[in-house]
Amino acid sequence: MSECCCQKECLPTPTYSKIACASSSSVIRELLKLANKPEVISFAGGLPSPEGFPTAEILAATNAVMATIPTRALQYSCTEGEIELRKLIADRETQQGVPTSPEEVQIVSGSQQALDLLARVFIDPGSKILVESPTYLGALQAFNLCEPVCHELPTDEQGLNPELIGEECRGARYAYVMPTFQNPTGRTLNEERRRKLCEKAREYDFWLIEDDPYGELWYHNQPAKSLRHWAPERTIRLGTMSKILAPGFRLGYIVGPRHVIDVFTRMKQAVDLHTSSFTQHITAQVFNDGLLTTHLPKVRAIYKRQAEAMLQALEDYLPKHPEISWTHPEGGMFIWLNLPKGVDGAELMKEALKQDNPVAFVPGSAFYANTPELNHARLSFVTVSPERIRQGVESIAKALKKFL
Ligand code: PMP
Repeated sequence: MSECCCQKECLPTPTYSKIACASSSSVIRELLKLANKPEVISFAGGLPSPEGFPTAEILAATNAVMATIPTRALQYSCTEGEIELRKLIADRETQQGVPTSPEEVQIVSGSQQALDLLARVFIDPGSKILVESPTYLGALQAFNLCEPVCHELPTDEQGLNPELIGEECRGARYAYVMPTFQNPTGRTLNEERRRKLCEKAREYDFWLIEDDPYGELWYHNQPAKSLRHWAPERTIRLGTMSKILAPGFRLGYIVGPRHVIDVFTRMKQAVDLHTSSFTQHITAQVFNDGLLTTHLPKVRAIYKRQAEAMLQALEDYLPKHPEISWTHPEGGMFIWLNLPKGVDGAELMKEALKQDNPVAFVPGSAFYANTPELNHARLSFVTVSPERIRQGVESIAKALKKFL
């Protein structure tokens, strides 16, 4: 037998699927690897602030679950999710004005799984779907596995403009939208636009997927009523515990008409049987302990403080230029920076990483389904202290001056 001197060449390579081959490395993914260095101030992540994790309360809830229902919490469970948690979620929806029963709730392993199931349930190769421009990158990744044709819905400073939805949207399987504190722009749709969007969904016969991970993270006032309030018969609402409790729980939910939820349940059974019963029981316990009422105001206060620090820093440091502007979110985790035409967010980031206080963010081009706009950046402020936020924004400003 001949001796191998180069392990790599001798390793057999499987024949990957078309989709697996298409998910190759991207320039942005490579750039973001640099953001992981400890000296880099990162506005790139979409992580919630660890300051907001109620660790002591979760420990107490875990102890209570293990003291009272240890075998239920550790056993396999049903695909729909634990009934106690589904009831609590249905009650929250009902309190917010849309009467909801537990049968209309499916528990999932993070709302990212809801996006994956959504694609499997709604999309055949070539099916038309509608997405905002820009939209959440993780949703595009999940949808693209099922090979849809994405049609981009135009947005302006107030978010998605439903007036521009016309005949070309007819026949779409769904419109995927984030009406509240959108990722990546931080924008929120006002009530008039929400109602109009629901009217258009009826007129052109498409379903609405309302992704709402940030709705509870408002700074001053509760946002407008959900799309589900205006069009309960054709809206599927996605929620998550990631931003109000802990993303490590991998716990989210889908709310919608029962006959549609049944199809999601069948699909989920094939994918992972069920979501962790352990974290579902702990979460139900935490809800019953009233934690959300006492805890959420603290999280809102942290995010508000960080958002204000970044908005002030942008005002103080960014060059005054007619084409430089940014969004002023009323909640959530993101600010969207608009750069002059011709300035590429990815090039700006390379320059920003070279500064004395190197800084990273996500170049805006990552968030478009078809036609990327290069002159934007998504800035996430929640995991960075106000002092570091100022240093980071100052670095962006210095880098930006090189392009003007
Ligand atoms: N939807 C949106 C808009 C998001 O921003 C995220 C996470 N950043 C998710 C879904 C997925 O969240 P999770 O799976 O943690 O619930």
